Amino acid sequence: MLDADFFRRWMTATAASVDREAERLTALDSPIGDADHGSNLQRGFTAVATALEKEAPDTPGAVVVLAGRTLISTVGGASGPLYGTLLRRTGKALGDAGEVTAEQLAEALRAGVEAVMTLGGAAPGDKTMIDTLVPAVDALGNGFAAARTAAEQGALATTPLQARKGRASYLGERSIGHQDPGATSAALLIAALAEAAGE
Ligand code: ADP
Ligand code: MG
Ligand code: MG
Repeated sequence: MLDADFFRRWMTATAASVDREAERLTALDSPIGDADHGSNLQRGFTAVATALEKEAPDTPGAVVVLAGRTLISTVGGASGPLYGTLLRRTGKALGDAGEVTAEQLAEALRAGVEAVMTLGGAAPGDKTMIDTLVPAVDALGNGFAAARTAAEQGALATTPLQARKGRASYLGERSIGHQDPGATSAALLIAALAEAAGE
């Protein structure tokens, strides 16, 4: 069973890895964006870590909802509302149980990913975070390590795609040949899940 502490570890592991990878995320956002993805998420997840310490939510759902709410209020770019919606919806789907199963987490995360697709209008193949999140959720039934591998492959697979959503889509064919920054950060989020699980 996964308790509030597991979800706290997921969020703090994400904050730490976004911190380590911020420069790379911003570098990926340079050729096909506005070079702020790393700093956007660094600001957001630092605020998430602080909020979790201060408010100490004690259920899985409350931890994840607080993280989502914090991202929405601290990240101005497209990724703030999108990741915020992902986590808020996932957290709501977890309900108010003190512990949840891995299966319930997979179901909740699927609801979260669907909410991101509804909000942003992106489908798989549009060269966004969705290209990482959908295969990761599909693989989650096989465990956290399988989800991490699927997420990493999904992020790499955005390179040959032409962007159809977000800032990168303004470049048309010139977006081809660059890995999507949001798909890359989404792989960090999923890798942090495996880390929190000790995998
Ligand atoms: P901004 O583009 O506002 O500067 P960021 O640089 O923080 O925001 O985030 C850019 C990332 O957000 C992209 O790499 C992409 O993965 C993701 N993104 C942008 N628009 C959408 C969308 N409509 N649906 C899903 N993801 C999106
Ligand atoms: Mg940007
Ligand atoms: Mg921006």
